[in-house]
Amino acid sequence: MPVIKLPQNNLSHYNKVMELNYNSAAELKSFLEQNSMGMQKKFGQNFLINPGIRQALVDELEAEAGSQVWEIGPGLGAMTRLLRERDILVRAFEIDHGFARALEELFAGDTGLALIKGDVMKTWPSEPSAPYLLGNLPYNIAAALLADFIEKGRLFQRMVVTVQREIAQRMAARPNSPAYSSFSVLCASVYTVKPLMIIRGASFYPKPNVDSQGVRLDLRTDIGPDSYPAAFYPLLRRLFASRRKMIKNNLANFIASGAGGLGLLSAGPLPATPQEIAAGVLAHSGLSGNERAENLELESFVRLAQAIEDMRK
Ligand code: SAM
Repeated sequence: MPVIKLPQNNLSHYNKVMELNYNSAAELKSFLEQNSMGMQKKFGQNFLINPGIRQALVDELEAEAGSQVWEIGPGLGAMTRLLRERDILVRAFEIDHGFARALEELFAGDTGLALIKGDVMKTWPSEPSAPYLLGNLPYNIAAALLADFIEKGRLFQRMVVTVQREIAQRMAARPNSPAYSSFSVLCASVYTVKPLMIIRGASFYPKPNVDSQGVRLDLRTDIGPDSYPAAFYPLLRRLFASRRKMIKNNLANFIASGAGGLGLLSAGPLPATPQEIAAGVLAHSGLSGNERAENLELESFVRLAQAIEDMRK
């Protein structure tokens, strides 16, 4: 059982509690109360109190001693502690000032932990990249954060995350299934997605209403910086915005919005309409236009984006 002993010389804030047992809801609750801290729902704060699952998630990361890991939302440091026990260097992003202060004392003197305070959505772009990412992700930013990393090219060799089960299903979904979304294609564009264990609410404190699931994402080795044309990600969003509409209609709307950079193309003396340009893109891509986003494989979206890129040039 991992038990944290607070440093003897640093008990200013935490002198009422000498040890922190990450496996006990009662003890975590009492630690928070005695140190005038609370759990904030708006930050998706649910501590993972199941030691077997914490261990399994860290094992799944397969990070070597001395390697660098980004940890999103360390909370009071239950997962951080496991990483540090393996001599893994941690850059931890935490928004809650109370948790951040507690971490500074719980890990006082540990130079292997760098704490980045504030909203990770804002702080991550200026931080040096790392090969690995671990996180029991706050439910309210989980999908947006992972999408942001992918769209901005901040890719990790491996990520192991805990997300709401519904998000995990979307991440791993294949075409023709109800969970298939632009986020599924986004994840598949750069990662091999492997769903891990389902984590019931009882494994958390406080207990959430929905189940969670671990997900492992391994960077694909068959892609490079030029694998995806510039139009790929914006096009994906637009085609899935109306996933049951035929793509020829969504594509025309995309072009009409000016997003693909094709607005100035002309067909002869007159400017072409978005529908005409869409027809040209479709002909170039080899797709009929009667398909729906929910049925298309990743490769079809790439072909469409490439056709837009070719015509724009
Ligand atoms: N890692 C701990 C565990 O597994 O028990 C806590 C995980 S808890 C689900 C999510 C953590 O993310 C909380 O510590 C919360 O304060 C933090 N958090 C929430 N929103 C955040 C944000 N925008 N930026 C950084 N941290 C955030």
